[in-house]
Amino acid sequence: MVDKLNAVKGMNDILPPDSARWEWLEAIVRELMARYAYRNVRTPIVEHTALFVRGIGEVTDIVEKEMYSFEDKLNGEKLTLRPEGTASLMRAVIEHSMLYDGGKRLWYSGPMFRHERPQRGRYRQFHQIGAEALGFAGPEVDAELILLAAALWKAIGLTDVRLELNSLGQPPERALHRAELIKHFEAHASLLDEEAKRRLHSNPLRVLDTKNPAMKDVVESAPKLIDFLGPESLAHFDGLRAILDANGIAYTINPRLVRGLDYYNLTVFEFVTDRLGAQGTVCGGGRYDDLIVQIGGKAAPAVGWALGIERVLALVEEQGTAVPLPVPDVYAVVPDASAMPVALRTLQRLRDAGVRVQMHAGTADGLGSFKSQFKKADASGALHALVFGADELARGEVTVKALRDGAGAQTMRALDEVAAWASTLQSPATKD
Ligand code: ATP
Ligand code: MG
Repeated sequence: MVDKLNAVKGMNDILPPDSARWEWLEAIVRELMARYAYRNVRTPIVEHTALFVRGIGEVTDIVEKEMYSFEDKLNGEKLTLRPEGTASLMRAVIEHSMLYDGGKRLWYSGPMFRHERPQRGRYRQFHQIGAEALGFAGPEVDAELILLAAALWKAIGLTDVRLELNSLGQPPERALHRAELIKHFEAHASLLDEEAKRRLHSNPLRVLDTKNPAMKDVVESAPKLIDFLGPESLAHFDGLRAILDANGIAYTINPRLVRGLDYYNLTVFEFVTDRLGAQGTVCGGGRYDDLIVQIGGKAAPAVGWALGIERVLALVEEQGTAVPLPVPDVYAVVPDASAMPVALRTLQRLRDAGVRVQMHAGTADGLGSFKSQFKKADASGALHALVFGADELARGEVTVKALRDGAGAQTMRALDEVAAWASTLQSPATKD
C-alpha cells in the first residue's frame, strides 16, 4: 500500500456543497464592487520576502513568526507566500505606475498564508477579499469603503457585525503618545508579559493589540492616542463620522483599536462579531498613507480593508442564512444506451438555452435499471426528469416528469422543438 497523503495542517479543501457558499459570496462581492466602481487586480501568490518585511513591518506578528518564507533552490532568491494582499497590490501599483493619471479603486480576492495555530476561524491558508482606494486623501473614501462593507453585510444577510472605529493620527502625534505610552508601561512593568516587554521599546502601540486577558487592565488604563490628535487629524476623523452618521452606520469608538499591521495612520476600523468566539474580527482596515513610500513608490494616500472569507461564511452559517444550492433543473433518464446519441444532442440544446442539465452516466455494469436511474434523478435535487424511453423516441418525443412541485405530473415534448419548451424546465432561481 502506498502511504496516504493528506492536506497540510491548517490548509483546507473547499468541497461541495460548501463550495456553493463560496461561489454565492464571490458573485455578490463581484457585483457589489462593480456598483462602487472598484476594479479587480490579481497579483502573484509569491513575492520577494523584502516586500512584506518593509511593507508590513518587522515588529509584527506576521513578519516575526507567521510567514511562509523559503529560498528558491534554483537561484537563491528569498521568497514568501503572501500573508496579506495590500503589500502585493501596492507593489503592483508602483511597478505599473497605476496612479499616473489619478486615483484608483481596486479590489482583490484570494488565498493568504500565515503560520498560525489552526483553530476555528484561524487557518494557515485562508482567503481574503480586499478593497483599496489609492490616491484619495479625504475622509469620503474612508467612508465609501465602510459603506461598501456594510452593503455587503446587508446583501448576505449578516446582522451581527458591529463597527469599531479609531484614529491613529499622524506620525508626529503618535510619537508624542508613544513617549507617554512607554512611561505608562514602564510604570507597570510587572504586569506585562514577555512579548509586551520585548515590544515595549520597539513598538509599544502593538502592546495595545495584545490578546492576553491578564493585561486587560494595564492596556485599558494606558494613555489614549486619540487624546494626542491635532486639529487636522481630528477634522479627518470628524469628516468620516459625519458621513457615517448621515448614512445611519452605527459604530463605537474603540481607543485601543490599533490593528495588527504597522502601516496604518488616521482611520482604522474593524467589523467584529461576538458569534465566532475569539476569532471575532471579520473585516479590518484603515488608512495607510505612508506605505507606498515605504516600499519604494511616490507618495500617495491610501485606504482599504480586507475581510476573511472563512469567518464571514462561518457567520453566514451561524446565522442560518439560506444559500441557494446549484441543483440541476433536469436529470436525464436514459434506459437504453442506444438512445444516448439522441439524448445528448437534446441535452446540449437545453444547455444552450440556459437549462441546467445532469445526464445519467453508467458504471462498468451498464446504465442501471429505470428505477435506479429515477432514484439518482431524485437525489440530484433536479426539478424534472427527462425520460428518453424507446416508445417516446419512436414518436420523436421525450417525457418530462415533475420531481418536486406536483411530483409525478407528466408531459410529452417534441424533440425537434426544444427551444420552444426549454424555459419551462428552469426554476425561477436559475432563470436570468
Ligand atoms: P487576527 O487579529 O484575528 O489575527 P489580523 O489582524 O491578523 O486578525 P488582518 O491581517 O487584518 O487580520 O486580516 C484581515 C482579516 O483576515 C481578519 O479580520 C480575518 O477575518 C482574516 N484573517 C486573518 N488571519 C486569518 C487566519 N489565520 N485565518 C482565517 N482568517 C484570517
Ligand atoms: Mg493575526
